[in-house]
Amino acid sequence: MTSKGLKHNASLGIARYLAWVSLVLVLCLSVVLAIVFGNTARESLISKQRSFAGLLAENLNHQIFIRFTLPTAVGFGRIALGQPAQYERLDQVVQTLLHGMHVHSLRIFSQTGMVTYSAANKDEVRSEAFVTPSVTEAAASADKAIFDIDAALPYWEAFFRFRLEPGTFYLRTTYPMRIDNRLGSSEPSGALLGVLEFSQDITSDMAAVIKFQWSIIGIMLASALLLFLLLIFFLRRAEAALALRMDEEQRLLRELHQHEKLAGMGRVVAGIAHEIRNPLGIIRSSAELLLRRQKDADTANTKILEAIFDESRRLSQVVSDFLDYARPRQPAQQPVDLDRVLREVSAFLEAELAQRGTTLAVEFPPDAASFVVAGDKDLLYRAFYNILINAMQAVGKGGELRVTARWMHEDGRELAVLSFSDTGPGFPPGDRERLLDPFFTTKDGGTGLGLPIVNNIITSHGGSMALADAPEGGALVRVTLPAMAES
Ligand code: ADP
Repeated sequence: MTSKGLKHNASLGIARYLAWVSLVLVLCLSVVLAIVFGNTARESLISKQRSFAGLLAENLNHQIFIRFTLPTAVGFGRIALGQPAQYERLDQVVQTLLHGMHVHSLRIFSQTGMVTYSAANKDEVRSEAFVTPSVTEAAASADKAIFDIDAALPYWEAFFRFRLEPGTFYLRTTYPMRIDNRLGSSEPSGALLGVLEFSQDITSDMAAVIKFQWSIIGIMLASALLLFLLLIFFLRRAEAALALRMDEEQRLLRELHQHEKLAGMGRVVAGIAHEIRNPLGIIRSSAELLLRRQKDADTANTKILEAIFDESRRLSQVVSDFLDYARPRQPAQQPVDLDRVLREVSAFLEAELAQRGTTLAVEFPPDAASFVVAGDKDLLYRAFYNILINAMQAVGKGGELRVTARWMHEDGRELAVLSFSDTGPGFPPGDRERLLDPFFTTKDGGTGLGLPIVNNIITSHGGSMALADAPEGGALVRVTLPAMAES
């Protein structure tokens, strides 16, 4: 992996780590917020309930005093709830007052903590079992209500309950019943008559608070999850893109190494080839000389000399092809008339074409401007020669070769397009990509350097070469060369 790839990978790793950390943070935060908001909501709910219960306690005290205590004291001389008539009277007053008030239970305690009245269950009367610390405290206080919550479950447990049964949470209010000051008693808070205690079911309000807390957690969780998923999605995409880029980088690096290796090898081989060329030339010309001297003698030595001459000539061709490929020369920049070059090649090949029974037609449009490009006449000659030799070797007896020319306009450039087609079998189908690789050949005596040399020459002229199938069968080599810039 490259250092750039490593750096990208490290930053993606950090981003992934941050994504997880932020998810955990947001989750913790949502729980903390839910607790804080929920507690605030619960506190304000309870304080609202308390003030309501406090008012209710005051009102009950007042009403009981007016409607029961005063008339009873006047009528009976003293208050004695042990008397059924008084008890009934109080019960009537209380039941009327509690109507529609959602009060679950109401008790009145004596100063000693004994139940003297119970709205819900008369059997509780005279029992001391119901006294609570709040009752004792209320008995000792002036006229302050004391509030307690009676919970069937701890709050956290209720938090995880799907449904809360009615009666799970009660708000219990304990209030000292005194002679009502508002009636003009001399004492600041009146004499204590007993302690009033009543409970209200606040389960449904608590359930609403719990539901509110869950909605906060739910909303925070959903948004955190959404953010997290988005982050992970983009991270994945970035990772995939990075992996692709790294693969590509590695491929390019491998190719570069390969090219460097090949280029190094090519330089060595080209050096050797260069050294071989001269002695080879001497061998060839010596063989030719000896052959000429032995011209008429058809001896075994002549055959050997012929073999030496043929092979050294072939070897020379390979060496010079290889050097042409490995050390391409910079093309000259002269005006070159393509029509003329092609006719020269065609004249050179004429004898061999005739011998093989092959025809070559070079067709330039008569009315078009002359096909002049800036380039190297010798190199272009070499390129067209290679293409036509290949075509000639590909077609059998009676085969036809054709060269056509036209002008083409592309990206504001004027291009000369030469199409070389033949009636041969066409390029070998599976090897189309390898045809431009040096040394790729399907011929017995081939060097596999013909097309790579053509390609080098054409590209060094700023042109391009394409290999295709001719529409009427056979091979099609399309060469494109930029027109000579007008001066
Ligand atoms: P060589 O001629 O020494 O084989 P080239 O590079 O010129 O080397 O050609 C490579 C291969 O391309 C040939 O061996 C042949 O298979 C294929 N080829 C080239 N020209 C033609 C053509 N006109 N028709 C069919 N195949 C061709």
